[in-house]
Amino acid sequence: MDLGIKGRRALVTGASKGLGRGCAEALAAAGVDLVLNARGAEALEEAAEAIRAAHGVTVATVAADVTTDEGRARVLEAAGGLDILVTNAGGPPPGLWRDWAREDFQRAIEANMLTPILLMQAILPGMCDRGWGRVVNITSTSVKAPLPPLGLSNTARAGLTGYVAGVSRQVASFGVTINNLLPGSHDTDRIKALDMATVEREGIPMEEARKRRMASIPVGRYGTPEEFGAMCAFLCSAHAGYVVGQNVVLDGGAVNATL
Ligand code: NAP
Repeated sequence: MDLGIKGRRALVTGASKGLGRGCAEALAAAGVDLVLNARGAEALEEAAEAIRAAHGVTVATVAADVTTDEGRARVLEAAGGLDILVTNAGGPPPGLWRDWAREDFQRAIEANMLTPILLMQAILPGMCDRGWGRVVNITSTSVKAPLPPLGLSNTARAGLTGYVAGVSRQVASFGVTINNLLPGSHDTDRIKALDMATVEREGIPMEEARKRRMASIPVGRYGTPEEFGAMCAFLCSAHAGYVVGQNVVLDGGAVNATL
């Protein structure tokens, strides 16, 4: 399917690895020019070079912490006018509810709620003026069904979800759509770190931790950045103009819910 976005410009934050990289690859495959961000310059440059070589699109990079005011300002300056925004950053650490202090909540809220909101606040006006835009926020199934060790994620991402529910309806008449993509368990560094936390907490081998998690997923495996990226590119496509304010779950059926 031609996604109808060849020649558009996208910013993908948290894009050197994992799900952000999957989104960047899929957008590039559709002919979208990219601005990519992550903190580590080396992996970011490697990703950019691989994407240029594979897809022949323009790829600019900004190595910066997008969760800081200074980092976000640098990313936004390099991005300029955009057609597509994919927001992403690392998730909060797992833990026990009784251990979380004010500072832990503040960090999670900065990274996983305020950072995507502030990026949207900066970029949406230009999209509305130009009469077209696509925003996809990478969040988590934790907004549908709470993940007990990830209470910081449950909390911060719920705030982002509420913002999107309201604002997506206010920008839709300008040809701008905002939707969230909710990953379940995808084979990335993040899931390795979460499985390692289970290994340490429960004293079991890594293979056992992976087996247990996979057994909770109807599809029986982890998702891939490629299939995640394909859904992101579709939500950013010319065909998705009627998809507004949705929370699209990509979890192999793990959230056991009728709706
Ligand atoms: P990942 O494999 O660890 O990749 C994270 C990417 O974001 C890397 O490119 C990383 O590069 C970049 N990044 C992290 N913090 C950043 C920051 N402050 N500023 C700029 N870039 C940053 O993680 P992932 O699995 O793709 O997960 C992406 C998001 O989805 C996370 O928020 C995660 O919590 C959420 N999620 C993932 C899963 C899953 O199954 N994988 C499930 C639910 C939710 P640098 O480290 O070099 O900055």
